[in-house]
Amino acid sequence: MSDFSPYAVSSANSRGRRHADEPPAHRSEFQRDRDRIVHSTAFRRLEYKTQVFVNHEGDLFRTRLTHTLEVAQIARGIARALRLNEDLVEAISLAHDLGHTPFGHAGQDALNACMKDHGGFEHNLQSLRIVDLLEERYAAFAGLNLCFETREGVVKHCSAENAQKLGELGERFIDRTQPSLEAQICNIADEIAYNNHDVDDGLRSGLITLEQLEAVSLFSRYVEAVRAAYPGLGGRRLVHETIRRMINVLVCDLIETTTGNIIRLKPQDLAEARRCGPLVGFSDELREAQREMKRFLRKHLYQHFQVLRMTCKAQRIVSDLFSAFISDSRMLPPQYQSDEEQPRRVADYIAGMTDRYAMKEHRRLFAVGEI
Ligand code: MG
Repeated sequence: MSDFSPYAVSSANSRGRRHADEPPAHRSEFQRDRDRIVHSTAFRRLEYKTQVFVNHEGDLFRTRLTHTLEVAQIARGIARALRLNEDLVEAISLAHDLGHTPFGHAGQDALNACMKDHGGFEHNLQSLRIVDLLEERYAAFAGLNLCFETREGVVKHCSAENAQKLGELGERFIDRTQPSLEAQICNIADEIAYNNHDVDDGLRSGLITLEQLEAVSLFSRYVEAVRAAYPGLGGRRLVHETIRRMINVLVCDLIETTTGNIIRLKPQDLAEARRCGPLVGFSDELREAQREMKRFLRKHLYQHFQVLRMTCKAQRIVSDLFSAFISDSRMLPPQYQSDEEQPRRVADYIAGMTDRYAMKEHRRLFAVGEI
């Protein structure tokens, strides 16, 4: 522990848990958080939830679970290099997508639209709801009773209105301070992971091509370097060697730029680091390169007609399920029936579904000939 930077989060400077818990005997508080997350039901559901491609479209595409593991691995590497709390970074990374609906962002947008008169639906806040309330694993409390810093890391962004409701967790959105450096790392590791694995999955699916990607400066720089070093190399090895180099340059740039920011602003402790503005970040050049890649993926992959068909179908499934359960809540499993907050409980039920479970429920409710 003692080799952490002075502005790292530690068991000693943590704001602690909501419910008093005995300190762990042989683990740090954040190792315990990580372990609780891995044992949760919501974590196992990530295996069957869409990242970009619906789970049944192919066995090799990323799911929310493999995406999550890539984020954790990238984030831990960065945290160790910066002498920050790796255990916290791992816990936040493993929890960061727990609140996602089935069918990726399409599912979330549909559920948010269904919930517009009932407080909306936002996956970050749902992740928090899962770890604070919905998981049923401990006798003494609902949820996982995670440390403040892990919970804060899960809530990446939220509206001013929602921030008011979050109590101390919402304060930073109101007073405009930053989350811990560990949380900032997870945020950017998420971006590094999905930009790169979406290039890989996009190429594998055939929805985007190498030729198209060569118009993106970061990709073209490294694919050309690989071709120059290994003339004649093609296929998967060319793609993977290029992606590996892109991930490496992003991670190295992030570590070096962040180190420079820390040297310049000299935070002495965690409280000062929170007041410094975002310390974890890329150089201007790499930030722009990442933006260009995102624009490319949005246009050519996320808005590809075949992806949009899936998106449209997913939205229909989610909104059909929502309308059916709202019209007659007696069709819900009993634990989701509620007198006070029925729409929120319907959202909990739908958000918790895996892709295939949602499709199965839809067939159960709507397919003629299947009861
Ligand atoms: Mg993510």
